[in-house]
Amino acid sequence: MLAALAAYQKGFAGRNAHICYAMKANSSLAVLQLFAQAGCGFDIVSGGEMARVLAAGGEAHKIIFSGVGKTRAELHEALLAGIGCFNVESEAEIEVLNMVALSIGRKAPISIRVNPNVDPKTHPYISTGLKGNKFGIAHERTLATYQRAASLPGLQVVGIDCHIGSQITEETPYLDAMDRMLDLVESIEATGIPIEHIDFGGGLGINYNGDTPPTADALWAKLLAKLDARGFGKRKLMIEPGRSLVGNAGLCVTEVLYLKPGEQKNFCIVDAAMNDLPRPAMYQAFHTIVPLQTTPTALESAVYDVVGPVCESGDWIGHERRLQIQAGDQLAVLSAGAYCMSMSSNYNSRPKAAEVLVDGSQARLIRQRDSVADQLRGEFLL
Ligand SMILES: *Cc1c(COP(=O)(O)O)cnc(C)c1O
Repeated sequence: MLAALAAYQKGFAGRNAHICYAMKANSSLAVLQLFAQAGCGFDIVSGGEMARVLAAGGEAHKIIFSGVGKTRAELHEALLAGIGCFNVESEAEIEVLNMVALSIGRKAPISIRVNPNVDPKTHPYISTGLKGNKFGIAHERTLATYQRAASLPGLQVVGIDCHIGSQITEETPYLDAMDRMLDLVESIEATGIPIEHIDFGGGLGINYNGDTPPTADALWAKLLAKLDARGFGKRKLMIEPGRSLVGNAGLCVTEVLYLKPGEQKNFCIVDAAMNDLPRPAMYQAFHTIVPLQTTPTALESAVYDVVGPVCESGDWIGHERRLQIQAGDQLAVLSAGAYCMSMSSNYNSRPKAAEVLVDGSQARLIRQRDSVADQLRGEFLL
């Protein structure tokens, strides 16, 4: 995690740039604590995430609040906490935020999330900057929305932002989005509304299966060159990386329960499932699976579908993997640091896994496995 952060820090050396970790990728308290101590801010998408940041020692003024459906209660709480910026995602939200701010005598710092209508060339479920997506304010409506926001007494325009998608492995979508954003900044500032910061979102991909995303510093060298060329090199910059900071820092260790040979397929049934690792079921995502035992050479290798115990055919972790394994072996599912534990559930009344943070030769428990009592808490019999 710290090495991934260092790649961004290297790319931004000497710049006025602020990294807000998009914590929905992995919101475990100790992970947040690590990034807070490294100086990061946080991009949050709910009141629950704000509470986690504050509990982990993060500073409120370094929080930015994204998301299309912030409730009045969440806006109120975040204003009272004194967060750094609300990334507003609709014209209706602007009116509500203004009213909430006025009702408690505060001015809400805002940035408008622009939908730049560029194709990030990633999975449709994680594309967010295209016309048909629910996120942000349409490019054509941006200027009018800034003018409306600037006229409201409860709001203070501080920035502009975009976030075009996730697991992006090419530079072009970023460069295109940057051009479209800078065009907008020029036209907004021409109407007398200053834009203090420009936030380019997150979305940089990681290597799951031979993917070759640019490194953070290489990508930013290109983007900063464009910013310099267009005269924005000294502007305050913000980014919201999630996956690229944590994805390849995590793995899931699971035990082989049963091997189940079949006529058409062999199944390797493990004790982790879609409730622990939802990405394959949700996005047909690929995770590398590595046996942790040095197996006796006599063992035959075979091709397996690696599946969990959950009662869904969508409960799979890997399709057609050649493995040399036996029941009782452990497997590591790689690249599980992002959008796995944070998306996990108790489906099938399965306990959430324990989490261990490894630092060199030190291993620390940062989350205990759910107990039965944890799962029953908060429910009532008739
Ligand atoms: C999810 C999200 C991010 C982070 O995306 P990654 O692909 O994990 O880097 C950044 N900004 C917003 C608004 C998001 O919703």
